[in-house]
Amino acid sequence: MSEKKCALICGISGQDGAYLARYLIGKGYTVYGTSRDAQMTSFHNLVRLGIREHIKLESAALNDFRSVLQVLMKAQPDEVYNLAGQSSVGLSFQQPVETLDSISVGTLNILEAIRFISKPIKFYNAGSSECFGDTGAPADESTPFRPRSPYAVAKSAAFWEVSNYREAYGMFACSGILFNHESPLRPERFVTKKIVAAVCRIASGSDEKLYLGNISIQRDWGWAPEYIEAMWLMMQQNTPDDFVIATGESHSLNEFVDVALSCVGLNWCDNVVIDKTLLRPTDLMVGHGNPAKAREKLGWQARYKMHDVVRLMMDAQLNADTLL
Ligand code: NDP
Repeated sequence: MSEKKCALICGISGQDGAYLARYLIGKGYTVYGTSRDAQMTSFHNLVRLGIREHIKLESAALNDFRSVLQVLMKAQPDEVYNLAGQSSVGLSFQQPVETLDSISVGTLNILEAIRFISKPIKFYNAGSSECFGDTGAPADESTPFRPRSPYAVAKSAAFWEVSNYREAYGMFACSGILFNHESPLRPERFVTKKIVAAVCRIASGSDEKLYLGNISIQRDWGWAPEYIEAMWLMMQQNTPDDFVIATGESHSLNEFVDVALSCVGLNWCDNVVIDKTLLRPTDLMVGHGNPAKAREKLGWQARYKMHDVVRLMMDAQLNADTLL
C-alpha cells in the first residue's frame, strides 16, 4: 500500500485553504495548516465545512523565516500550498508594506525553507490575475504583467520568485494565476459577498441600501471549490509549470448585482446607491482569462460560470444549512 501523502496549507483559515483542506482530506492526505496565530484563530471556515478536527494546526508567520522552517521541519510535507498573505486589493492601498511583506517575503521564506529540507517538496504558490492589470483580450500564461495595485505588485514579485527558484534550483515550484473565485466562505470585505449578504438582508425586510463603487468593472468570476482542484492537479504533473485558471467568461459587476437582485425579486432603483468614496485610486476595468492551457494539460475546466456562482452564493446565504 502506498504511504499516506502529507500536505501543508499555509493560510488554511481562508476561503481557499478551507476548501483545499477538505479536498485533500477526501483524497486521504494528512493535512497540516498554518495560521499566524493558531491559538487565537477561530477557523470558522474549517468548522463550517466540518473538518476542523481532522487538521493539524500550527502557528506560522510567513514573513518570519524561523517559524516557516519550524513548521516545515515538523510537518515534513510532500506538498506545500501557499495560500496565505494579505488578499484584498482594496486594503493593499492602505497597507502596502504589510502586503509586500506577507506576500513577497512570505513566498521567498517558504522557497528558502524548502531548500533547507533535504526531501523534495513540491510547492504551489497562489498567484493572481491582478498581475495582468487590465487584460483587454483574455489573458493567458504569455500575457505580460502590468500590476496596478500594491497587491498585484507583491503577487508579481512572488510569481517571479517561484519561477526563478524553479529555474535556478530545479525545484518543483509552480504558480496558479487564478482569476476571481467566490463562495459562501468569502468574507463581506469582498464585493461579491457584500452584494449577496446585503441583497439577502434587504429581501428579509431590512431597509438598508447596497452601496457600491465602480459597477462597470468586468471580472471573470468562478466557483472556489472547483478552483482548488486545479491547484492540486498542477502539483500532480511530472514537470512544474504555471497555469491561468479562469472560466473564460467576463461579466460586469452591474450584471452580478442584477442576477443577485433577480434571485429574490428585487430591483435596482429602490435598493442600490452608487458611492464615489468607494472608488479605488486605480482599478482594473476588465479582468478576463484564457484557461486553454489548463484545459489541455490539466484536463481542468470551470463547470460553474458567473450566473451559477451568484445563485449558489445566494442559496447558501438564504439557507444556512445548504451544502457548501
Ligand atoms: P483569504 O483572505 O480568505 O485567506 C488568506 C489567509 O492568509 C487568511 O486566512 C489569513 O490567515 C492569512 N493572511 C491574511 N492576511 C495576512 C497577512 N497580512 N499576512 C499574513 N497572512 C495573512 O484568501 P483566499 O482564500 O481567498 O485566497 C487564497 C490566496 O489566493 C491568497 O493569497 C489570495 O491573495 C490568492 N488569490 C485569491 C483569489 C480569489 O479570488 N479568492 C484570486 C487570486 C488569488 P490567518 O489570519 O489565519 O493567518
